[in-house]
Formats: sequence, C-alpha cells, structure tokens
Amino acid sequence: MSVPPMLLGQIFRRSTGERAWRRFSNGEDEWLYAGVVTRRRWIADTWDEATASIAGDQAAHLIRVLRAQPGMEFDVVAGGRVWHSVLAGIAGDEVRFNLVAEVQADPALPVTLLLSVFKFDRMEWAIEKATELGAECIVPMIARRTEKHLAQAAVGRTERWRRMALEASKQSRRSDVLRVKDPIPLRDAVKLHPEAKRFVLAEQERSTTLHHALEEMLHAAGDETPAIRMAAGPEGGWTAEEEALFDAENWKPVSLGPRILRAETAAITAMAVAAALLE
Ligand code: SAM
Repeated sequence: MSVPPMLLGQIFRRSTGERAWRRFSNGEDEWLYAGVVTRRRWIADTWDEATASIAGDQAAHLIRVLRAQPGMEFDVVAGGRVWHSVLAGIAGDEVRFNLVAEVQADPALPVTLLLSVFKFDRMEWAIEKATELGAECIVPMIARRTEKHLAQAAVGRTERWRRMALEASKQSRRSDVLRVKDPIPLRDAVKLHPEAKRFVLAEQERSTTLHHALEEMLHAAGDETPAIRMAAGPEGGWTAEEEALFDAENWKPVSLGPRILRAETAAITAMAVAAALLE
C-alpha cells in the first residue's frame, strides 16, 4: 500500500506514550499504525469532568511561544489523570481544553524522600532529579547539622521548590506532580508513617545495602508494594542523637557503598536504586 508523503507527515507528527492508528481515505479506507503519539503535556490548574484550564506561566508559554489555536491537541493532567485534550479556547491569560479521552498514566513510585536541608543549589538539583526518577513526595527536614541560615530560609524556599517540582514533572511527562511538604524538624519527621518501610541512609553502615534491603522487602511484600521512606543526612552527616532517634523508631540503616557521597548524590542514588527495583 502506498501512502501519500503528505499524509505520512501528518501521521508521524510529534507523539509519545499512546499508540495511534489513523484512518486513511486513500481509496481503500485502511487503518495504518501511526507509531506512538507524543503530545505536549500540560498540568491543569482547574478542571471538571469535561474541561480543564491552565493559567500563569504554562498558559503564557502555550499562547505566546507555541501560538495556541483552538483545535490543537495535547495531553492534560487533571487530578492525577491524563487526558487526550483539544484546545477549546483562550480567554485572556487562561487556556481551556475539552477532555476527550483518558490515556494511560504511570503513577509516581510510592517513595518519599526525607532530605535534610542542605545548600539550596544542590537541594534544587536533588528535587529536580527525584522528580524525574518518579518520587512521590519530598519532606525537607531540619537536622541538627543543617546550617542555621539554611534552616531559617527553608520555609521561604518551599514555594520555589514546589514550582521546580511542577516544572520537572511536566518536563519528565509525569502524570502527577511531586509533592514538596513544608520543612519540619527531624525529631518530628522520624515519627511519621510508622506503617511505611523506612530506611535511613548511613555511610557507616557496612552490612546492609539499600539494594539488598529493598529486594528483601519487596520479596516479603508479594504483590503489594508498600510505601517507602528514605532519609538522607545533611553535609555534616547525622549526629549520634539523631541516629538514636531513627533507631528508636525502627528505621533500617542502609549503605549505598563504601564511599562517602555528597548529600544530593546519596539522595538521588537511593532514588535510582528504588526506581530500578520498583519500575
Ligand atoms: N558525615 C559524613 C562525613 O563528613 O564524613 C558525610 C555525610 S554525607 C556528605 C551526607 C549524607 O549522605 C549522609 O548523612 C548519609 O545520609 C548519606 N550518605 C553519604 N554516603 C553514603 C553511603 N555511602 N551510604 C549511605 N548513605 C550515605
């Protein structure tokens, strides 16, 4: 069968995720496999069961850079679900979509990273990479050795971290946005979610690696993947008192190997190990 080059161009336009079949009226009315559809993805600010809207930076980019027009097709994430959508209209700085059909979405991995607050540029890098690797949530923690000025500024930084998580979620085509919680003191953070499987990254641990501990945990859990929480220390490491707090709350100390990693390297390595076993 021959397909006119013009039609081929139409079929193979940008696409991902979803397999697409297109109908051709080339005299024979055939269906042709059109590859995998990759539509640009937006994360809705507001939505109902049939429509969704974006505003702010996302909408400005769509209107000005991508020259939004009614009829353009996108994927829109609304309430953790992804929809094949058609641009319905532009009103001022808001873009509205009609939600056409739900498309399959990959949920975040059930992993929460507790990051002791460290230098903000490195912290931002860690948040971006954790988002790309599929973490569900980040809890910034104020540890004993978190530098004082960073601890004081952390609350004011949280909105910026959330914006970064939103950007990284869009860029990595997630169907949800990584949540960044308000910073809390370590002594409170260690007590949260005792039902989860909790691992504290500890460079002095020699016998149990994170990889081995997760493998064992997954094997014991069977079909259900339990919620996982992993804590990374600040640049100066945990104090003896903090180690005792983790111990009292039954966190499992785990190693990422014999070398001392920087805090952000440790956090992302842990996330990558978890992703490799959970995906
Ligand atoms: N206290 C250490 C020192 O100065 O020798 C350094 C701490 S390290 C820079 C920061 C955090 O990364 C640690 O508290 C730990 O949570 C994690 N980390 C670094 N290397 C690790 C390893 N090999 N295994 C497990 N965790 C590690």
